[in-house]
Amino acid sequence: MDKDLLKGKKALVVGIANEHSIAYGCAKMLKKAGADLAITYLNDKAKPFVDKIADELEPSIYLKCDVTSEQNVVNVFKEIENKWQGIDILVHSIAFAPKKDLQGPLVRCSKEGFLMAMDISCHSFIHMANLASPLMKKGGTLFAMSFHGSQKIVEHYNLMGPVKAALESAVRYMAFELGSQNIRVITISPGPVKTRAASGLEEFDKLIQRAQESSPLKSLADIFDIGAMVTYLSTDYAKNITGDTIYIDAGFHLLG
Ligand code: NAD
Repeated sequence: MDKDLLKGKKALVVGIANEHSIAYGCAKMLKKAGADLAITYLNDKAKPFVDKIADELEPSIYLKCDVTSEQNVVNVFKEIENKWQGIDILVHSIAFAPKKDLQGPLVRCSKEGFLMAMDISCHSFIHMANLASPLMKKGGTLFAMSFHGSQKIVEHYNLMGPVKAALESAVRYMAFELGSQNIRVITISPGPVKTRAASGLEEFDKLIQRAQESSPLKSLADIFDIGAMVTYLSTDYAKNITGDTIYIDAGFHLLG
């Protein structure tokens, strides 16, 4: 990784829970490429785990951000405006669904559980894009994390299927709306990765095994592969890529 690739660029990464998080892989690779970081933690319980990562990555901005708190979200962007006056990259790498709704069939999920999953996993990205875009005066790149279960039936993905489908669609519409400001909006779709969020899915170990054994490359992408792709897509080398879903899964999604 060229350490000056993103020199002078400012990147906000939300969704680091620990050293297994996809967001950590993204933050680490963006930092390696020279970007200045802002990172967040969910709450006081999560903070000690994220503190270790903040010690390692030395972000310029380190704040609490629970996206169900409007005050938390607004505060992050206020701090970015005060400290940086602008931002170039946003990585939204968060998702949530109540376990009882996630682990049951979609048809039986509660309205509250569905709306909460949509709010945290999809609407918060739209909201952050709205707050970030005025700060992207020379353009920028917005990333959301999805999964192939949005497009095809992946057993046990259940409620998150329609939620991620909505997220991918939101990415396309925002790419259209923000394109004239030179703001690109991209969905990253990694294959299965062992993280805390993924542990909420039933039989996740079987999915990992299937991905490893049957993907064309017979391998699993790791969080740094994902971070490397986010880094590349943040540069001018990717200046004509927007609105798309970029898979990083050793070709696993091609199997259907
Ligand atoms: P993770 O558990 O490390 O990260 C999920 C993050 O969401 C955590 O940091 C958590 O604090 C955050 N979060 C949950 N509720 C929040 C809220 N109210 N406010 C702010 N943050 C909140 O797991 P991960 O697998 O790294 O997940 C990151 C993203 O990647 C998610 O969108 C997930 O759906 C997506 N993804 C994961 C996989 C996988 O197999 N792990 C595959 C494809 C896509």
